[in-house]
Amino acid sequence: MRHFPVYLDLKGQRIVLSGGGDAALAKLRLLMKTEARIEVFAQSPAPELTAWALDGQIALHRRLIERGDFFGAALAYAADEDDALDARTAAFARAERVALNVVDNLDDSDFITPAIVDRDPVTIAIGTEGAAPVLARALKAELEERLSPKLGLLARVGQGFRKAADALPFGRARRDFWADYYFNAGPRAADGGKDALKGALDDLLADHLSRDAAAGHVAFVGAGPGDPELLTLKARKLLDAADVVIHDRLVTGEILELARREALMIDVGKTGFGPSTPQEKINALIVEHAAKGAQVVRLKGGDVTVFGRLDEEIDALDAAGISWHIVPGITAASASVAAIGQSLTKRGRNGSVRFLTGHDMKGFADHDWKALAAPGEVAAIYMGKKAARFVQARLLMHGAAPETPVAIVENVTRPEQRVISTPLATLPAALADAAPEAPALILLGLAPRAASAPENNTRETTTREQELA
Ligand code: SAH
Repeated sequence: MRHFPVYLDLKGQRIVLSGGGDAALAKLRLLMKTEARIEVFAQSPAPELTAWALDGQIALHRRLIERGDFFGAALAYAADEDDALDARTAAFARAERVALNVVDNLDDSDFITPAIVDRDPVTIAIGTEGAAPVLARALKAELEERLSPKLGLLARVGQGFRKAADALPFGRARRDFWADYYFNAGPRAADGGKDALKGALDDLLADHLSRDAAAGHVAFVGAGPGDPELLTLKARKLLDAADVVIHDRLVTGEILELARREALMIDVGKTGFGPSTPQEKINALIVEHAAKGAQVVRLKGGDVTVFGRLDEEIDALDAAGISWHIVPGITAASASVAAIGQSLTKRGRNGSVRFLTGHDMKGFADHDWKALAAPGEVAAIYMGKKAARFVQARLLMHGAAPETPVAIVENVTRPEQRVISTPLATLPAALADAAPEAPALILLGLAPRAASAPENNTRETTTREQELA
């Protein structure tokens, strides 16, 4: 980050600007929103400038800017759109040590002016360090559309109520009150103006004061396979409101970043605290935080109800009398068939599908191999990398065709996603070749749609290739 965004207090400060054309007008339209005293130097000012000067919004000097004009200024703008004139302005600013912006000239500027979304006192500054003005404009347009024009009013009225809201206990009670104001009661009352908002705040405070100190709660939330865009809206909202997030190794950093900034993040999947963080310890941790009144999000990769040891955690909460609910997520099997363009079930091929684990607590897991070996069967094998050779041997022994298609999907939905396609006969060799280190799901009975012709069966396909195919 070469440019660090800060908010500068310009109340009563002086800003000097040299220029009287379009660039000057554009900058002044922004600067006039501040509480600064603005002095403009232009030998032939545009008519708007004369009008603003008559209004008293700026002080207009019909002459060249001089070194003495910079004395005591907080900011200076070189906006003549003329290299020689701008260089002259810049030299004065340097000599007087006044921070300078040369319009459309990043390298000669001490600071740059961002695109601004203005809901004063709420303002959003958007900067790209000059890299992508188009992007900055698009972001601004998107935010302008998304944010109510009444947001500024809401915030101003809210600001005046902060003292009164201190009657609520610090922490979640107060946070809930403000969230209720900004997202429910406030927007509903905003059309009625300031007085309606004040009334709404009084009612809301009375309501929140009468609530019981809220009890802790645990949401079991499926984070999906990795792509943050595959989170449910409910997952996003819960992450946004969480006091504590207890997550696994499977949950990607991009998703964890969506959690509330103040949330306590606990990784129970790290080596050290252990992939072996014993389940009882995890249970105890969840109970401990919820019992203290925290809103806990127990975040698990994929769907929480698939190979997630969910029931053990629920039992612990029930025993402690703590409330909980489940928010489903997209499981690796759903994401993996999507990645290879296939269905989990298909009329005339398979009327049922199995989700298997390669491992159970005793080692390689046993399954109904005879049923799985039948033609057309489809199964998603979780945690199956190590068990692949065992699974293959069992299936062949029970009569599975050696050419049964198998697809291995590693890192599904993540940028590093990889698909390996092989007949059952060469499954262990294909896995050894590809040596996937990240989580991978084995889809038995399915080949990538683009690679389903037999001659294509042993090859690696990337998502990109599939898109092109
Ligand atoms: N609850 C998870 C599964 C947990 S078991 C879910 O619903 O997806 C862990 C196994 O899930 C891994 O060994 C792997 O087989 C599979 N898996 C999870 N995330 C994956 C991903 N992003 N890509 C491929 N496989 C994944």
